[in-house]
Amino acid sequence: MNRKEFLQRSLAGAAAVAVGTSSVELFSSCTPKNKTELKISFQEGTAPGEGLNAKFDYMEQLGIVGFEPHGGYLLKNFDEIQKALSNRNIKLSAICAGFGGFILAEDPAVKAEFDTSMRAIIDAAGALGSTGVIMVPAFNRQEPCMPHTLKTREYLCEQMHELGEYALKHNTTVILEPLNRREAHYLRQVGDAAAICRDSKSAGVKCMGDFWHMSEETSDYAALMAAGPEYLQHVHIASRGNRKMPGEDGAVDNYVDGFRALKEMNYPYYVSFECGTNGKREETVPAAVQLMREQWELA
Ligand code: MG
Repeated sequence: MNRKEFLQRSLAGAAAVAVGTSSVELFSSCTPKNKTELKISFQEGTAPGEGLNAKFDYMEQLGIVGFEPHGGYLLKNFDEIQKALSNRNIKLSAICAGFGGFILAEDPAVKAEFDTSMRAIIDAAGALGSTGVIMVPAFNRQEPCMPHTLKTREYLCEQMHELGEYALKHNTTVILEPLNRREAHYLRQVGDAAAICRDSKSAGVKCMGDFWHMSEETSDYAALMAAGPEYLQHVHIASRGNRKMPGEDGAVDNYVDGFRALKEMNYPYYVSFECGTNGKREETVPAAVQLMREQWELA
């Protein structure tokens, strides 16, 4: 608050005292509530129901505003998705991978497969207004893979630059997802992904955080803040013990610290479910949504 704002608020406070306003009301008038909206997104398997329209009806009733299909599902069902989304209060959030090959493949044929299939998904994602296409540079199981060296990082940044520029031309982005070390030791932390975004020198290269994989981080708040509004384009959520619905693992399912970062940066994108369930979806899905909304208020 600068001096002018301080004086204006002090004067408003004095006027309120003069008409007998309580001290609680005075305090709340000095601390404006953060109005950042929690925009929740589901993948195609999250909601109960058969078929897209039944799932979207269910989602709308719960106030879910984003849909995150797998890239393969998007390509196969492009027309159906486009039609089902029209006249709905649901938008395409991010696209979850779905390409073949991988960007750090040593085999040129596998790299070429990545280039072709990733671009096809980017085209479709942009045409339907998606925030971006999620990708992992290399899973541990993908071999032969370029060695984890400085040269490989430089190569990755060059390749990401090209991909980012391509995505921008198609009105979308590419989103790097860090995973935990059991799945992908190459990229494990949100801050590292953000640094690759920066060094790729393309506004089409973004990153995300996944609360499940973020067991790699020492602080949810610091991790998401390290990406910040310039690079953070998407968030995944799951329970933190077994990757089920938020809340299914009890007290460890605490997202308040991360949500606080999202609120402070006025995060405009989606928090998207990426998880299974041990219970009945009709019960565990609404319970998870309620838990997220309660923790968002606390953050
Ligand atoms: Mg994820």
